[in-house]
Amino acid sequence: MFYKKINILSLLFPDTCIVCKKPVRISSYACKRCNDKIEYINPIFKCKTCLSHIPKSDNRICGFCLKENPQYSRLISCVAYKGYIKSSLQAYKFNNRPDLHIGFSKLACETLEHDGVYFDAVISMPLHRNKLLERGYNQSALIAKNIAKHFEVPFYDDLLIKVKETKTQSELKYAERRKNIKGAFDVNNPERINENTILLVDDIFTTGFTMREAAKTCAPHTDKIIAFTIAKGILEN
Ligand SMILES: [Zn+2]
Ligand SMILES: [Zn+2]
Repeated sequence: MFYKKINILSLLFPDTCIVCKKPVRISSYACKRCNDKIEYINPIFKCKTCLSHIPKSDNRICGFCLKENPQYSRLISCVAYKGYIKSSLQAYKFNNRPDLHIGFSKLACETLEHDGVYFDAVISMPLHRNKLLERGYNQSALIAKNIAKHFEVPFYDDLLIKVKETKTQSELKYAERRKNIKGAFDVNNPERINENTILLVDDIFTTGFTMREAAKTCAPHTDKIIAFTIAKGILEN
């Protein structure tokens, strides 16, 4: 059964539609009506590491990523960060709705199953301890933990840590984002990921500065990093 393990968690949290937040049947993440409102990411003709559109060609890396040279091999993302998904992810992250992690976890597992990607362990984008105290939960870690459970691989929740208190990336202009996140991460007992393929989980990928900085921090310990986010955003400011 595909969602067997996640459904054990559903005993603690109700199955909720990630769009309208009404109850849905077990094993679903969106109700029938709302599923049409979700824009899924199709990786065809997209850059391998940022999922921006590229013209039909054999070169699957865009010019921006060639220059930035991310230390992960590819980005997998489930849905476009807009409309109902955007407000739902914002509620999950900022309006104390940790229950929504069940639906987003199901979406994540389905996307990864469909992709057929292989990984040995899961890690998640950390929050600074002050931010974690304020929010009460790490929205990416809740999803990452469920992915690890579903695929029966370890979840190292304390491997990647955030050592610098940064401003919220989405509130910053493009040029400020790189500086804001630089040197923000460190690793704990990285020998756990030696030679392993790791799935690095975050909620949203927009400019990718956070993902690239986190991957750069892990890269000395493994060169097999796959980036994964629930949503792919487009820079608006
Ligand atoms: Zn719905
Ligand atoms: Zn790219």
